[in-house]
Order: sequence, then C-alpha cells, then structure tokens
Amino acid sequence: MKILLATEKPFAAPAVQEIKKIATDAGHAFVVLDKYTDKAQLIEAAKEADGIIIRSDIIDEEVMAAAPRLKIVIRAGAGYDNVDLDAATRRGICVMNTPGQNANAVAELALSLMVFAARNFFDGTSGTELKDKSLGIHAYGNVGRNVARIAKGFGMKVFAFDPFCPAEVIAKDGVIPVASAEQLYETCHYVSLHIPATAETRNSINRALLDRLPAKATLINTARKEVIDEADLEQFMADRQDFKYLTDITPGNDAALKEKFPKRYFATPKKMGAQTAEANINAGLAAARQMVSFFESGDEKYRVNAK
Ligand code: NAD
Repeated sequence: MKILLATEKPFAAPAVQEIKKIATDAGHAFVVLDKYTDKAQLIEAAKEADGIIIRSDIIDEEVMAAAPRLKIVIRAGAGYDNVDLDAATRRGICVMNTPGQNANAVAELALSLMVFAARNFFDGTSGTELKDKSLGIHAYGNVGRNVARIAKGFGMKVFAFDPFCPAEVIAKDGVIPVASAEQLYETCHYVSLHIPATAETRNSINRALLDRLPAKATLINTARKEVIDEADLEQFMADRQDFKYLTDITPGNDAALKEKFPKRYFATPKKMGAQTAEANINAGLAAARQMVSFFESGDEKYRVNAK
C-alpha cells in the first residue's frame, strides 16, 4: 500500500523517521508531503494514496474525490473536525484519530493557563493560589482525566461533567461527578473545557451558562473555539469585570477582546496544546501503527466515522 504523510505543519524530523520505519518495515511505500502551501499539492499527492496520515490538514470531499484508492485517513491527534466524516463514510473510507496521545501535553497547558490567570498574567502584582479552589472539568475524556490528575496535585477540589462517562468512573479518580453543565459552572472557580466541537456543542458555552459562574471565575479553553458563543463571551466579559478567559484557540473576536480586556483575556499565539516533542512523536507513531494494523488485519479500533 502507499501511505502518504501529509502535514502542512510537519512533525519533528525524528518522528517522521520513526513513522516511515513503521510503514516501510510493514512493507508499505511511504511518501511525505509537508509544508505545502496550496490545497492542489495535497490533491496531487493524494491521487495514488491508499492511506493518509494528517495533523490539522483538511481532508474534504474534494480531496477524497481525487484519491480513488484511499481507504483510510488517520488524524494524528484527538480532534477530527478537519475531516469530512460523512463524505468519508459515503466513499467507504475509514477515519481514525489517535486518542490520548497528546492528552498530557494539553492538560499541562490547561493547568499552566490556570496558574497564569491566578498570578494576574505575571504582571508583578500579588495573585492567588490554585490550592483549595474548585475546578470544573467540562468533558471527562483523555485530556479531562489528565487535567484532574494534575489539578489534584495542586490541591484543587475537582468536579467533572460528562454525560457519556459513568459517574462511578469519574468518582473512582477522586473527582466529584456533577449531573449537568449548569451545576458545574455554578460550583467552580475554574472551568476547563474539554468538549469536542460537534453539532451539539457548537456555541454551547453561552451567556446562560456563563451567568452561572461564581465571582472571580476563570474559564480555560484548550478544546475548540467553535464551542464558545463568542458574542456572548464578549458581552459577559464587559458585564463581569471579575471574570477571566484564557484560550489556546484564538477566537474570531481576538482583537476586540485583547483591546477591551487586556488584563483578563489571553490567547496563545497559536494552538500550542499538543505542541510538545513528546506528544508530537506519540501521536505520529500511534497513527503509523494504527494504519499498519488496519492494512494487516482490518483493525478499526479507533474508527470515528460511521460505516
Ligand atoms: P476525548 O475524545 O478523549 O474526550 C472527549 C470527551 O468529551 C468524551 O469523554 C465525551 O464523552 C465528552 N463529551 C462529548 N460531548 C459532550 C458534551 N456535550 N458534554 C460534555 N462532555 C461531552 O478527547 P480529548 O483527547 O480529551 O480531547 C478533547 C478535545 O480537546 C478534543 O475534541 C479537541 O477538540 C481538543 N484538543 C485540543 C488540543 C489543543 O492543541 N489545544 C489538543 C488535543 C485535543
């Protein structure tokens, strides 16, 4: 089979070497398209591919239509909203992600943003501590679980809401499960977002939810910008001078938020959650192994689209 590694933002060179080794040791041809600047280059490279490994690269209907041999797309990472899942299903293409591989990296960033907020963006003034503060984890998946683990080390009181994760699983980690997002927001000084961007979650962090936050609350977003109702957030920040918002995903209204709330709003210069040497390598290698296993035995363990 011909495996294409298509990364507009490339993996580190040692990771590419390891991915190549996994693919070629299993008898596959391996090609790399990185730092491409035009979708046409991706379409050209995809023409002969049986499998494609990507990062945040967009695989839409047009790319799939140009790749008649394509059987599988693997997103080396957690979120897969950059792949048109319905189009893949229609074309009989399997789409996978590599869950959990970057979870610790994202969790460490979430906690570092909390510290940054608690210490007033390191502006030289006296801040507060995370110890004994309540933290609400909104979605208890791979990242959420790692945030809980680290936050407990800080001495935070940790709560979580996830309608798809049984309460006993959450409780087993020493985390307090709550029954609704509303309850989570009412209870917590810090809320850390880890929901995926889906039809259900888009714009779901809205005024009604934000209004429930207690005084001096901080919202941390290392998930996706699409889950925030940006107009509601901007108005809420204007009305609630005690509230801070820190995000790893630059919102559409970044310039306005920066100008109006410089001491309470912060966005990383680009999405940095998974940008560590360790996460980079882990996700790439997992993608390569999953692809080899798929071609060897039809293993679809991490499939995310319908058949
Ligand atoms: P995951 O799939 O392991 O966990 C997602 C969790 O969300 C699951 O437990 C699921 O039950 C829960 N969930 C789904 N819909 C929900 C809803 N409506 N309300 C509450 N919970 C809901 O994913 P993960 O690895 O924990 O990553 C979480 C998200 O973080 C990803 O979807 C991705 O968008 C984002 N992410 C960002 C970065 C970054 O660089 N900042 C890196 C990795 C992941």
